[in-house]
Amino acid sequence: MHAATDPHSQAGERAEEPVLVIGAGPAGLTAAYELARRSVPVLVVEADDLVGGLARTVEYRGFRFDIGGHRFFTKVPSVAELWHQLLGPDLLSRPRLSRIYYQGRFFAYPLKPLDTLGNLGLLESLRILVSYLWRKLFPIRPEVSFEEWVSNRFGRRLYETFFRAYTEKVWGISCRELSAQWAAQRIRGLSVRTALLNMFPGVAPGRGSALKTLTERFDYPRLGPGMMWEALAEACRALGGKLQLESRVTRIFHEGGRVEAVEVVKDGRQVRLSASRVISTMPLRDLVQALSPPPPSEVRAAAARLRYRDFLVVALIVENPEIFPDNWIYIHDDSVRVGRIQNFKNWSPDLVPDPQQSCLGLEYFCFEDDDLWSLPDGVLVELARREVAAIGLVDPALVRDGRVVRMPKAYPMYDAGSLEALEVLQGYLEGFENLQPVGRNGMHKYNNMDHSMLAAQLAVRNIFGERHDLWSVNSDSEYLEESR
Ligand SMILES: Cc1cc2nc3c(=O)[nH]c(=O)nc-3n(C[C@H](O)[C@H](O)[C@H](O)COP(=O)(O)OP(=O)(O)OC[C@H]3O[C@@H](n4cnc5c(N)ncnc54)[C@H](O)[C@@H]3O)c2cc1C
Repeated sequence: MHAATDPHSQAGERAEEPVLVIGAGPAGLTAAYELARRSVPVLVVEADDLVGGLARTVEYRGFRFDIGGHRFFTKVPSVAELWHQLLGPDLLSRPRLSRIYYQGRFFAYPLKPLDTLGNLGLLESLRILVSYLWRKLFPIRPEVSFEEWVSNRFGRRLYETFFRAYTEKVWGISCRELSAQWAAQRIRGLSVRTALLNMFPGVAPGRGSALKTLTERFDYPRLGPGMMWEALAEACRALGGKLQLESRVTRIFHEGGRVEAVEVVKDGRQVRLSASRVISTMPLRDLVQALSPPPPSEVRAAAARLRYRDFLVVALIVENPEIFPDNWIYIHDDSVRVGRIQNFKNWSPDLVPDPQQSCLGLEYFCFEDDDLWSLPDGVLVELARREVAAIGLVDPALVRDGRVVRMPKAYPMYDAGSLEALEVLQGYLEGFENLQPVGRNGMHKYNNMDHSMLAAQLAVRNIFGERHDLWSVNSDSEYLEESR
């Protein structure tokens, strides 16, 4: 670790110009807090009217819900410490229960031997075993796509049963177009062997903690993840940090490898803000497209190559105190469009104001130009009501109300060509001495909250003279088994 130095003397910038942080999601707020804690003037500009980014909590008629469900789970000590420091006893430790719905059946997830066997039947289980052994003997080479990666490790039949349909729902493209690198990042550490060992607790002592993919508990703020980001924003303000909502960055002026100023649109007016340094969590594609003067054409082409998967959640308020015991259910079945169903009450009972009611979150993965995205809210609520009924979870007559939230750019896509594009962008941005992109869309990495926050912490330490390669902050393959 390098000794801390005065960040203002580093590049000769004037002390009165703040470090400008773009975005008030987990990464942006973490960066701002770390700067304010070190008495560096900081201004956060956030396009939206609330903090938390993708990890916000939405409130509707006293019901609170997430954009998806946000588990707080980390092996990064500095992040865990901050979470606990911010919320204390309001950071609850919650049990995890989740199942897969496939071909009209519910499978315990993580898989349990008798349950899986009972659901699949002996014949199908044997077919899965044969297909697994076949691929072990004759793996597909080269291994380029998600389909090939998973089939090589689990066999074609298991891939078809538990991976293909859900993955294609999440990404909207065939598993043949999805890169093997994504599979390697997301499900490395999970194999048939580890899954089997996990089915029999006690067979392999010590494996439980190594196999984070199948974690059984997680932390969760009593009033949803937004509670964490509001506390972090407040802590930042208390230390003198400034936060400006409803301020969208539209241009970033630079000269000689330095960002000089940023243009923000607030209340329809363009405002130019000077900055000594910039930490950006806005989507990488938008960041490059906002640069003025524009970068060389190959850099612009690389930025245009980045794609995102969008997402919408339909929250249904149901007159039933206990619908199902899971936190969430994966819907692998092709007969409905919903991809996952959250039962928010099981994340924290305080998310629901009336104990006689429940709130379900039906997650639909889509693109902004899909039919689904532009359907009127009422039609989406009706679709969600029909689909929970079709799955047999809810009596549709008990659905009292619904609320739709659309979230663009929920998932940075790892499709063919995105890696090469990222390399070009990374190489170009490294030429800037005072601009650091961090976070999930900020780096176009499938980061969870903790790694988004870690990158932000390291970016601040870089300002203080340390040298961390933020691009190598791992989005931690070990404990992730599913798209989230
Ligand atoms: C469905 C879903 C479920 C998830 N579940 C989990 C989970 O269980 N556990 C977990 O750890 N992580 C989870 N994540 C990931 C988590 O949400 C992200 O890692 C985290 O929110 C990333 O933080 P961030 O600050 O990098 O980005 P964001 O949360 O995207 O925040 C970026 C902010 O920048 C703002 N912004 C964008 N453009 C501009 C602009 N031009 N000017 C100003 N502001 C701008 C945005 O409005 C936003 O507030 C999930 C994500 C999704 C989509």
